[in-house]
Amino acid sequence: MSDTTTVSDGVVTVDGVPTGLFVDGDWRQASGGGTFPVRDPSTGTVIAEVADATADDAMAALDAAVAAQDDWAATPPRTRYDLLRRTFDLVHEHADDLAALMTLEMGKPLAESRGEVVYGAEFLRWFSEEAVRIGGDYRTNPEGTGRAIVLKRPVGPVYAITPWNFPLAMATRKIGPALAAGCTVVVKPADLTPLTTLFLAELFRRAGLPHGVLNVVTTTDAKAVSEPVLADPRLRKLTFTGSTPVGSALLKQAADNVLKTSMELGGNAPLLVFDDADLDRAVDAAMLAKFRNVGEACTAANRFFVQEGIADAFSAALTARVEELRIGRGTEDGTTLGPLIDERAVDKAARLVDDAVERGARLVTGGHRIDRPGTYYAATVLDDVQPGSDILSTEIFGPVVSITRFATEDEGIRMANDTEFGLIAYAYTSDFARGQRLAERLETGMLGLNTGVVSNAAFPFGGVKASGLGREGSHEGIEEYLESVYVLTPDPFAG
Ligand code: ADP
Repeated sequence: MSDTTTVSDGVVTVDGVPTGLFVDGDWRQASGGGTFPVRDPSTGTVIAEVADATADDAMAALDAAVAAQDDWAATPPRTRYDLLRRTFDLVHEHADDLAALMTLEMGKPLAESRGEVVYGAEFLRWFSEEAVRIGGDYRTNPEGTGRAIVLKRPVGPVYAITPWNFPLAMATRKIGPALAAGCTVVVKPADLTPLTTLFLAELFRRAGLPHGVLNVVTTTDAKAVSEPVLADPRLRKLTFTGSTPVGSALLKQAADNVLKTSMELGGNAPLLVFDDADLDRAVDAAMLAKFRNVGEACTAANRFFVQEGIADAFSAALTARVEELRIGRGTEDGTTLGPLIDERAVDKAARLVDDAVERGARLVTGGHRIDRPGTYYAATVLDDVQPGSDILSTEIFGPVVSITRFATEDEGIRMANDTEFGLIAYAYTSDFARGQRLAERLETGMLGLNTGVVSNAAFPFGGVKASGLGREGSHEGIEEYLESVYVLTPDPFAG
């Protein structure tokens, strides 16, 4: 470990991680001097006190972003590339520090945090490469009387609100494309996991970030701090990842200021297993789709729909694997399932499981809290979950498998689409034509076909229906931070 975290005898402490607000290139205290505690969910102990921004602090951050906007937009794309690429390198140099920090504040096993470092860094590399490839258009108008030039301009200062479940990747997938496009940014990370974003800002600073181009405000009062920023006409873009109710409330505020918006909201992912699936591979993939990130992912498989002919075998094989999961602190060797983020998350998992059982589901394994310090819930499998159970309509965000059986492809698709959400679906089948039919009929922004994880900076991540607006990653990701300017000129050959 270098300058971020130290792990000795299983005790983790945070050294050298900034705990202030990052405004206009410098670290500062909150204007009221307030701080709030950040806790390790695996023990409940306080690991840091972080500055608790007021609305004035957020406005100072916006002032800095606005002041920096024109110069940043005018920097050569290669300069923007260099900054993102240097930060990508620094993230990798500090991979162990960042991984330990994420495990400490969020709880997931260290191996998964290391995976997030690689994944999260990739948004910096991908969008550094996109920075130098921003396109435009030149063409003759259909009438032949003129020429149109379409150029791309950065949309302007961005406000980015991120959740706690992927503390690094959710920040880089917004900051990466924004900076690449020439936009300046104010980021408001979740108060449960602010330290990773603060450390990322420090790495940007070390990589040569100009003042004001990236600012970070941490706060326990997200609403009061965000409202004046969202109402300020100098702000031009809101990008949010979080729950659908909060996203919907933010969209209403954004409407008043006619902000360009990107919304990554809740999911309720179906996972379909067909009779013709390769059982072992389907189980491997399902374990990833369900238990990655302790189940706390908007992409987590929420509703398992298993065809009748394979259901008993799938349920038994999956349960055997679930019972092998080792619950513990993310920093402990061999841990494959960490704590949930907080007591509320444990209560929610318990409530959903109890409701499903009361409505007739079979509890196959788990189904209880774990009696140890920290906020743990046992890895759980429910089979024969009945229609109308809350678990089928609610994002679980925990280590609970909910299995419902279906007979025909049509029935499986109907069940899968029976939700207001449409972020991701998973399906296991060895029939390629069926896979194509699913791709065309499932109401989803993403489909994992015979695989358990789809996230990749190179491809468009996002949902349909109540799961959101816009895409992150791929060449589409940078478009979210650009706007087109169309210029018409007369036919240069006309006299
Ligand atoms: P979760 O339930 O996963 O915590 P939320 O949607 O509540 O998801 O939170 C996601 C992010 O949105 C966090 O950074 C949180 O602080 C922020 N947030 C929550 N409520 C508001 C609000 N009213 N205005 C602005 N940001 C908010």
